[in-house]
Amino acid sequence: MNRLNTIAIDIGHNANYDTGAVGIRSEDELNKLVGEALIEKLRGAGINVVNCTPSNATSLHDSLNQRCIVANNSNADFFISIHHNTGGGEGAEVLCLSGGLAEEVGNAILNKLEGIGLKNRGIKERKNLFVINNTVMKAILVECAFCDSEKDMNNYNEEIVAEAIFEGVCKIFDIDYTYVIDGENGDGKGLCHMVVSGECLSGIARKYGTSVEKLVEINGISNSNLIFVGQILKIK
Ligand SMILES: [Zn+2]
Repeated sequence: MNRLNTIAIDIGHNANYDTGAVGIRSEDELNKLVGEALIEKLRGAGINVVNCTPSNATSLHDSLNQRCIVANNSNADFFISIHHNTGGGEGAEVLCLSGGLAEEVGNAILNKLEGIGLKNRGIKERKNLFVINNTVMKAILVECAFCDSEKDMNNYNEEIVAEAIFEGVCKIFDIDYTYVIDGENGDGKGLCHMVVSGECLSGIARKYGTSVEKLVEINGISNSNLIFVGQILKIK
């Protein structure tokens, strides 16, 4: 069984001398939105997260090197660098050294991203990436989508993208990804579930040992056939 106590998350670019691509939206902005949402979800699931993104850098090498040093000092079990692509394509791909855990996690993430409508471009073996080569744990770089693709950027939702990456990680490390969030109406904390692609209310009810009627009632749902990906349902 693969254990995940600590994960290193690197929000690509976002530092001096290290600026990302710019398309319809800027890569720096998207990396930060997805990366921060991902960190929140991982922490919500009780995983120790180390954010490797430097606040300051004196060169591109320094920016990349700082990320690796923080990851290596954290004893993290896995490293994920969040990026967005440009160059006229569409969809998501994962860059890593092929084989083993890196490829397994990469494929799980790509399958989840495919489930929310991003084309699966597969694993791309890259032997020349600084953050992959200089981190001691298994490492991947996720190119979530193309920031110059109208198709990808149309209604791009960082919460749903982060959720897909999170669920891919959870699948491989066998983490139950139900999580606790603040009750919406000041009713303290409660168990909630974010709807993922392919789910229906009866399946969610079964998963939590509750009933469709109960979910309909506490969530004020008017049509039990109409739930949507990314919707957060109160469970109890
Ligand atoms: Zn990048």
